[in-house]
Amino acid sequence: STAVVWFRRDLRVHDQPTFLSAADAADRSLALFVLDPALLTPSGAARKNFLYGALRELDSALGGKLLVVHGDPADVVPRIAKAVGAATVHIAADYGPYGRERDENVEKALADVDAELVRTGSPYAVAPDRVKNGSGDPFKVFTPFSRAWADHGWRAPADTDASTVTWMDPSDKDGGPRAVKIPDDETCESQLPEPGESAALALWKEFLDGGVDGYRDRRDLPAAQGTSGMSPYLKYGCIHPRTILADTASMKSDGAGTYRTEIAWREFYADVLYQRPDSARENYDKKFDALPNETGPEADEAFAAWQEGRTGFPIVDAGMRQLRAEAWMHNRLRMIVASFLTKDLHLPWWWGARHFMQLLVDGDLASNQHGWQWTAGSGTDASPYFRIFNPITQGERFDPDGDYVRRWVPELAGVKGKAVHQPWKLPDGIPDGYPEPMVDHKAERQESLARYEKVKNAR
Ligand code: FAD
Repeated sequence: STAVVWFRRDLRVHDQPTFLSAADAADRSLALFVLDPALLTPSGAARKNFLYGALRELDSALGGKLLVVHGDPADVVPRIAKAVGAATVHIAADYGPYGRERDENVEKALADVDAELVRTGSPYAVAPDRVKNGSGDPFKVFTPFSRAWADHGWRAPADTDASTVTWMDPSDKDGGPRAVKIPDDETCESQLPEPGESAALALWKEFLDGGVDGYRDRRDLPAAQGTSGMSPYLKYGCIHPRTILADTASMKSDGAGTYRTEIAWREFYADVLYQRPDSARENYDKKFDALPNETGPEADEAFAAWQEGRTGFPIVDAGMRQLRAEAWMHNRLRMIVASFLTKDLHLPWWWGARHFMQLLVDGDLASNQHGWQWTAGSGTDASPYFRIFNPITQGERFDPDGDYVRRWVPELAGVKGKAVHQPWKLPDGIPDGYPEPMVDHKAERQESLARYEKVKNAR
């Protein structure tokens, strides 16, 4: 008998529950990946290239037996199941709005060829919709969610590798959609982390051995490279959070505890998106629909200055330039630049969210849209109105020596120490080529507070 293992956001062979369910169901399995235009078209080059690299590595781990096809999964997956005579197609469940609908459509279409979609596991330690409060309702704020999430617990990593399943040679398939080559990398202006499971496990080991204990103290200092860099690997499932949680379970340091809490944020936002799929595009808190945003040609120009990292606020510009150069940005910077866009420029958060999704190698709908909404105030944050980041004091506090700014803003490379955060105060004036601050932060802060009054009074 034959089964299909359909990979999606789980591009790995270790800790792979779908392998166990496929090996239970059939003697051999076909390994499948579908290049779905609905997902690829909106992805920037960084995410596509990372995906293609991870697929190449997966294919080699499976002995060159990964079948890659192109098309709408609801069309191609049933045709493949039929071509190989599979009664079951094994997946890790997807909980995003698109993925859920896609899987329901595939499930229906599979029924027409007498095959079944079997969901085992998910990209999360605890799948969305499992963590509930005492009344059985989902949580709307993070802290109680994270406690209940930790109490809920999760399974140990699944003991699998490439040999858990006997893989079918895709050329034995009789008809069905044509195999395509994993696409070549596209031109990309960013320097990407090495894709794939081996790179994920190597980086994770390095962080476990060297970084995790100091994580709490260093995670907010962008110059220190004190975070794990696991986000693109988690996004594509090159490593599963179960493995991460198991490896840190016996670690007692504050760093390890804080790290597990960050994993819980990822799970919280997936749960929020599952409960409220509309929040991918709209305000989670509908009161914020009353917030006036800037639009029109001046807003477009301000947006372009932000995108290009020429706002005249060094910490903001450094973050935006890191995003272009590395397709990644430090979390502290994501909050600072998002606050600047929404509270100093009064632009809609979804403009910024879209730009991030275009460039980020770890771009993830749940974490990105809700990270943006948290900063904009329209999301799950309990005290949204007064959180207006001051780009100067944020710079001085989290980049106290100015090293991060100098790394990314070469015009300011000659300015010593924390003076780099206020180049307009330098005795010789702003260095050549660097812009004047595009707004007066104090005035825009007042403007923001006035706009938020409208929200508070909205029903
Ligand atoms: P570490 O500090 O090492 O954290 C470990 C892991 O915990 C991360 O890989 C991530 O999976 C999770 N995590 C940490 N912080 C958060 C958080 N605030 N929310 C959700 N998960 C978190 N993260 C994404 O993975 N994709 C995104 O598209 C994304 N967009 C964001 C947009 C904004 C405006 C903000 C404020 C945050 C966003 N984040 C996003 C969360 C966070 O910035 C990144 O996960 C983190 O910077 C990734 O680097 P790291 O792996 O070194 O993090």
